[in-house]
Amino acid sequence: MQYRKLVKGGEKLSVLGYGCMRFPSKNGRIDIKKSEEQMLYAFENGVNYYDTAYPYHGGKSEVILGKFINKYNLRDKIYIADKLPAYLVNKPIQIEKYFNTQLKRLNTDYIDYYLMHMLDSLQSWQKLKKFGIIDFIKEKKKNGQIKHIGFSFHGRPEEFIKILEDYDWEFCQIQFNYLDEYNQAGLAGLKKAYEKGIGVVIMEPLRGGNLASKAPDKVKEKFADYSEKRSPAFWGLRWIWNHKEVGVVLSGMNVDEHIKENIKVANLTTPDSMSVDEIKIIDEVKEIYKKLMKVPCTGCNYCMPCPFGVDIPGAFSDYNSKYFFGKSRITQFQYISRVVGFGGGNKSGADLCTECGKCEKHCPQNIQIRKELKSAHKELDSKLMRFFVKIVMRFMGARNNKKEVSE
Ligand code: SF4
Ligand code: SF4
Repeated sequence: MQYRKLVKGGEKLSVLGYGCMRFPSKNGRIDIKKSEEQMLYAFENGVNYYDTAYPYHGGKSEVILGKFINKYNLRDKIYIADKLPAYLVNKPIQIEKYFNTQLKRLNTDYIDYYLMHMLDSLQSWQKLKKFGIIDFIKEKKKNGQIKHIGFSFHGRPEEFIKILEDYDWEFCQIQFNYLDEYNQAGLAGLKKAYEKGIGVVIMEPLRGGNLASKAPDKVKEKFADYSEKRSPAFWGLRWIWNHKEVGVVLSGMNVDEHIKENIKVANLTTPDSMSVDEIKIIDEVKEIYKKLMKVPCTGCNYCMPCPFGVDIPGAFSDYNSKYFFGKSRITQFQYISRVVGFGGGNKSGADLCTECGKCEKHCPQNIQIRKELKSAHKELDSKLMRFFVKIVMRFMGARNNKKEVSE
């Protein structure tokens, strides 16, 4: 296993992090025995960063991880990353309450890497500041209950930079893969964080599996052209670790073969180690995806901000995903989450477009943004998914949070 330091003066962390959000299941329940076996296998092969969060598996992820660590006496060998459910915080007292619940669930006295979960705008961070998060962090770091502080981000590139610059963060967590170089924080955000000495953890390296076994046939055929037989997942991960700015890459591993493969790539890939031929294959694969694109949006962001709140590149990214991978539930969930403002964030779906036309003047691709947004919404909206997302939001308490933000 290779190790990189995520934060200044911090510990050496395995470049592959264990994502505890997708444990294997059996008969509709988490298969705890299998989950433990897989976590142990990863540990024995060098993985020392385990990432969980308050809502994962309805709260069971933290409990299962805590039990595993204690069962094998690994607390001083494994670094726990956990996240404050920022979207649930409506009063100052809740910050401490959630934190204490997390310590209890994990059966530990401290959390190594603690993140503000799912910040999507400066506003979501400011809400936490209003509730006293800065003093909370100071106190917890002083008494050793939090070792390092960071945030995870889902939002627009400019919001990422604003949050990054608004606090003395040690690390952050962003979505990054070869199809999302210009979405969310993107490559620019990754580089900015690196320049500032802020460690970066990568999530969704394979877009929830879409860049792995679910990749389009044409993509699989292109990868098969290479002299060495490798899976699409291998390529996707190798491309990420090729970036020196990347610290830890999280993988929600729950299939034995995938864990073995991920460890293999993690062992093999050092920064800037991809050959010209390999980079060429990835570039050709990107071209294949470009041809499958419904809207030729590069995510350049020149059309933003929309005065009515539409996340234009975000909506087109979801729309294109439908044409890359089919009408998957993940794509629809992602789009409807924008529409309803999932997680206490602002609504940013294509349905907000008033057709003012301001954005189109700035698009270097000359996209008929108004027309395409209408089509995107028509094709991605779904009553059933709206119902499902609202149920999830209610479960997470995000609705109350949304109210609080707007008050
Ligand atoms: S045309 Fe629609 S998306 Fe473009 S700026 Fe106006 S409201 Fe926003
Ligand atoms: S300006 Fe055009 S290409 Fe750039 S993000 Fe907006 S729609 Fe996409």
